Amino acid sequence: GKSVVNSISLKEGEASFLQQARLVRRYGAAVVVMAFDQQGQADTVERKVAIARRAYDLLTTKAGFPPEDIILDPNVFAVGTGLEEHAGYGRAFIEATRRIKAELPHASVSGGISNVSFSFRGNDPVREAIHAVFLFHAIRAGLDMGIVNAGQLALYDDVPADLRGRVEDLILNRRADATERLLEVAAGVAGQAVATGPDLGWRETSVHDRLVHSLVEGLTDWIEADTEEARLTVDHPLEVIEGALMDGMNEVGDRFGSGRMFLPQVVKSARVMKRAVAHLIPFIEAAKARDGDRAKGKILLATVKGDVHDIGKNIVGVVLQCNNYDVIDLGVMVPAATILEAAREHAVDLIGLSGLITPSLSEMAFVASELTREGFTQPVLIGGATTSRAHTAVRIAPAYPEPVVHVQDASRAVAVASSLLSDGLRPAFVAETRAGQEQLRQAHASKDATPLRPIAEARRRAVQLEWTAPPPTPSFLGLREFTAYPLEELVPRIDWTPFFQAWELKGFYPAILDDPTTGAAARELFADAQAMLQDIVRHRRLEARGVVGFFPASRQGDDDIALFADEERAGVVATLHTIRQQMAKAEGRANRALADYVAPADIAPDYVGLFAVTTGHGLAQIVAAREAAHDDYGAIMAKVLADRLAEAFAERLHERVRQELWGYAAGESLDNPALIQEQYQGIRPAPGYPACPEHTEKRTILSLLEAKRRVGITLTESCAMLPTASVSGMYFWHPDAAYFGVGRIGRDQVEDYARRKGWSVAEAEEWLAPNLGYERAAGTRES
Ligand code: SAH
Repeated sequence: GKSVVNSISLKEGEASFLQQARLVRRYGAAVVVMAFDQQGQADTVERKVAIARRAYDLLTTKAGFPPEDIILDPNVFAVGTGLEEHAGYGRAFIEATRRIKAELPHASVSGGISNVSFSFRGNDPVREAIHAVFLFHAIRAGLDMGIVNAGQLALYDDVPADLRGRVEDLILNRRADATERLLEVAAGVAGQAVATGPDLGWRETSVHDRLVHSLVEGLTDWIEADTEEARLTVDHPLEVIEGALMDGMNEVGDRFGSGRMFLPQVVKSARVMKRAVAHLIPFIEAAKARDGDRAKGKILLATVKGDVHDIGKNIVGVVLQCNNYDVIDLGVMVPAATILEAAREHAVDLIGLSGLITPSLSEMAFVASELTREGFTQPVLIGGATTSRAHTAVRIAPAYPEPVVHVQDASRAVAVASSLLSDGLRPAFVAETRAGQEQLRQAHASKDATPLRPIAEARRRAVQLEWTAPPPTPSFLGLREFTAYPLEELVPRIDWTPFFQAWELKGFYPAILDDPTTGAAARELFADAQAMLQDIVRHRRLEARGVVGFFPASRQGDDDIALFADEERAGVVATLHTIRQQMAKAEGRANRALADYVAPADIAPDYVGLFAVTTGHGLAQIVAAREAAHDDYGAIMAKVLADRLAEAFAERLHERVRQELWGYAAGESLDNPALIQEQYQGIRPAPGYPACPEHTEKRTILSLLEAKRRVGITLTESCAMLPTASVSGMYFWHPDAAYFGVGRIGRDQVEDYARRKGWSVAEAEEWLAPNLGYERAAGTRES
């Protein structure tokens, strides 16, 4: 995109205007032009349009500007000042906007909206109403963009009619006494806004409707009292569940299904439901027996062995429970044998397998083959960040003759479950799934045929970096650890976009808060997150711990990196193994490996950094407390926030590494959006991600960092980190170091990698499974 660097104007005359314009053009930026000339700011329609036209003509004919890169600002001035000559200012801006859009093709119009209400400062409710009305008319006249406080913006339709009429009189200069008439009500509007609490009218309705209302709105304040009131009116407490509570959850399900409610709100509703059910349980003697009848089906959920991630699985569990399925959740790191045993014991209808890291894919295939071996017949659901439709089709479905269905996200889970458990829907659904999977397998087979370069040739095409200046020396060698790192310092470094993704709200922060569809849900979720985050920070409920290490290093062979204890560079303390792209690329495009970013010993003495951070200590306690309070929403929120803090810690520590600990970019000063866009020098690749997809490298990194002892991070057998809210990786300083994806690799590299790691080829194939560019011999899994 284009960045707007500044605004310019004709204030200093044409020559200076053109000089500024050409400079802006040289940077390829768009330009904002204020309606200003040597006589001052334009305040009438005629002057605004005349100056805009003059600027437009100069920019397009003399400065080479494409008209779509010109943004004209016709000046927003305050109305309601008490001076008659100001009364037409609102209307003049709107009218000028209309004419500019009609007469100057492709140019955009912008304005500083809040200026218009300047004389009402101190009375935000009235200012908001003025902005809403002014924007409404200006946008209709063609306004493209405006400077506003997005957090303080009312909708035109939401401004009460009487107030709106008075504001409109003022903005459009419809009557001479407009200012007085607005002032008459202004004091009242300010008072009102403070006085109006939530509307409690619904408390007057029947107990059934109140329960439904609480469920739909996710309100917990009255749920126990209302549930108790309802229980006293029925013969059997189950009737409360089957009546009002089910009606409420059905309404929630309908709204979710039709896009009128979003995932976080559903999870909040589930919390209300759980509280109500928890209240009733002591009263339900025959709960077990009748519960079985009530549920639409029993679904087993588990995160597979070696994996510890469960946010997605837990969300799916909540959504299924909301829809009246019985969920048996076996938790994380569940071995295949336990899954089979529980499936048999509970006679479940469906088995859901979840996982986040790539080794879980093999484990899922293994569970599928075990289900086959023991003659199970239940359909299997596959979900989690690392899974895909293609992977499910190619690797898991062939291992089990019953339906194996990939579930893209929690919002799909109910539809998939109900199709599989409905006699009517199942045959068509299964046939469609199988046909789709067959297609994916064929596509995969033909992709397998795409040529890979022999590893020797790929190595000849390695990245050739320049090593002109000596590599920067870190401020220390060896390890430095940080315990109880201040959380306050991490909060501003949080990247909020993935936070919303975790809750399945699509869009970028902060724009998502104003999204016409998801904005309301996003704002509510964000506010809840801020409240919990504040509590976590204030009471230090999570502890941030990290460790950084710098090592003298040199590229070894083509694809390895040797790390040394000290500047003597005598004994190698550890070797990092990297993997090289083998895809046939256009001439002149390198086949990359991370080792390319480190200088060989004969060229220069280089360095590599390692890091591991976690914000997961303390999380188990928060989650346990929330779960005890039947608050899945809070439990999931805590996990999502801990993950965000861990990424923020990785970001903050990397920033300090560049500025101070390694210090090769001491003068760097980037704001959070720039950091998120990785506008800094160097990279911090993390094993398991595309440039270094092989997870066992974490064993080397964490053991060099003494991560278990220093920061309490350990690895599972699949190399998932515990606590889950942890990040580890490497630092490369070179300005040309860039992220990439290894993609598919050939058997020649797999064999070579096995040799370098001291592994059998089968072992290497297991760890590199998602990247193999060829079909592996069958039956190689050692379990
Ligand atoms: N700001 C985001 C960062 C997401 S990417 C967040 O808060 O979630 C997370 C990390 O993955 C990066 O910081 C980097 O360590 C690693 N990473 C990203 N792309 C990579 C790639 N292609 N290869 C290796 N590591 C990568």
